[in-house]
Amino acid sequence: MDAAAPAAIYLDHAATTPLRDEVAEAMRRAEAEAWANPSSPHAAGRRAKRVLEECRETILALLGGKTTGGGRDRLVFTSGATEANRLAILGLAGGEPGIFASSARDHVSVRNLRADLGRRGWQVVEPPLSATGRTAENWRFPGCGRGLWATTLVCGQSGSVEDPAAIAAARGDAAVLVHIDATQAVVTQPIALGSLAAATLTLAPHKFGGPRGIGAAVFRGGCPIEPLVPGPQEAGLRGGTEPVVLAVGFARALELAVAERVATVAHLTGLRERFAAAFAAAATAAGLTVERVGGEPLSPHLLALAIRGVDRQAFAMAADLAGVCLGTGTACASGSAEPAPALAAMGLAPEIAAATVRFSFGRATTGADVDAAVARLAGPLARCHPARDAGECR
Ligand code: PLP
Repeated sequence: MDAAAPAAIYLDHAATTPLRDEVAEAMRRAEAEAWANPSSPHAAGRRAKRVLEECRETILALLGGKTTGGGRDRLVFTSGATEANRLAILGLAGGEPGIFASSARDHVSVRNLRADLGRRGWQVVEPPLSATGRTAENWRFPGCGRGLWATTLVCGQSGSVEDPAAIAAARGDAAVLVHIDATQAVVTQPIALGSLAAATLTLAPHKFGGPRGIGAAVFRGGCPIEPLVPGPQEAGLRGGTEPVVLAVGFARALELAVAERVATVAHLTGLRERFAAAFAAAATAAGLTVERVGGEPLSPHLLALAIRGVDRQAFAMAADLAGVCLGTGTACASGSAEPAPALAAMGLAPEIAAATVRFSFGRATTGADVDAAVARLAGPLARCHPARDAGECR
C-alpha cells in the first residue's frame, strides 16, 4: 500500500502484538532510572539489580509461583520463548535419557528439540492429536522409566486449548517431567503454577503487549537447570547483561494482561464471532466455502479458517495488498510451503490444511476494524476463487 492508502488492519496478534502505551511508559521511566548494568557493584548497578529482581518476583507471583522460602520457583530471563523452551527442556533432559514426548501442536522451537534429544539417546514419541487440535484424550505417556513431556497450553496454529487436568491425567506417573509452553496462553488463560502439573513453563511478553527481545523460563521448585550460555548473570543460569528495561516492560505487560483477562476474553470472543460471521458471508457471496478449524475450547484471540480451494499463501499475499495483515501458521513458519504440522496431525485433508489461514485479534482491535477487514477481503476472496487461475489471486 502506498503512503496515501489507509493503514493496514493488523489481524496477526498471535505472531506478535504492539507495545502497550502503559508498558512503553514504564519502560521509559526504567530507562531513566535503571539503565545501568545490574551486575555492577556501584549504586546505579545496585538500583538496576533491585528493579530486575522486583520484576522477577512480580512475574513469578502473577503466574502463581512460589517466590519465597525453600523449594521456591526460579525464573530465568531469556531472549524470548524460543530460547526459553530450549533452556527449559534441555535443563530437564540432563542426565540419563528416557522417553521424550512432543506433539505436532508444539511450536517449532520445541519440535526442533526432538532431534537434539534423539542424539542424546532419548526415545522420541509424538502424542496423537484429536480433530479438536488437543492431545488425543486416550493418550497416556508411555513406559514407566524416565520421561519428559513437552506440551503447549494454547496451540499457535489452531488455537486449541489444552486442559491442565487432562495434562495431569495423561502424564500418569508423577515422575514424568512436564514442560508447558504458555506463550500463546497468557492473554486468555488463567495460569496458576501451583496447580499445574508442570516442572517448567515458558512465556514471552511480546504476545501480550510487552516488548520483543525478552522471555522467561520458570523452573518449579528444585528443578535442574543446565545453562545454554554459561556466565555469571541470572545466578549462573544464563550469561549476558540482563535487559532490565525489557524486564520492566515484561512485568508491566503481565500485570495488565492478568488484571484485564476476563474483559479481554469477552472482547476477543465478540470480535472473533463478528469476524467469523461476516467473513463467512463474504466468502459465500464470492462462491466460496469457509470452515472453522479445531474444536472448542479454542482461545478467542485466534481463528483458523479453511477457505476451500484457496491457496493460503496466495490469499495472505492478496490480503496484504488489500491492507489486511494475517498469518498462515506460526509466524516463524509462514514462508513455508508445507501446511502447519498441527493441522495434518488433526486429520485435516492436505487440501484443507493448504487452504487454512490464521486471523488473530488483540485487545486494541475494534469491531470497526474487523468489519473494515472483511470489506477489504472481499476483493481477494473473489479473485482467489479456485475456478480462476492462481495467478489472478492478487
Ligand atoms: N511458543 C509458542 C506457542 C509460540 O506461539 C511462539 C511464537 O509464535 C513461540 C513459542 C516462540 O516465541 P518467540 O518468538 O518469543 O521466540
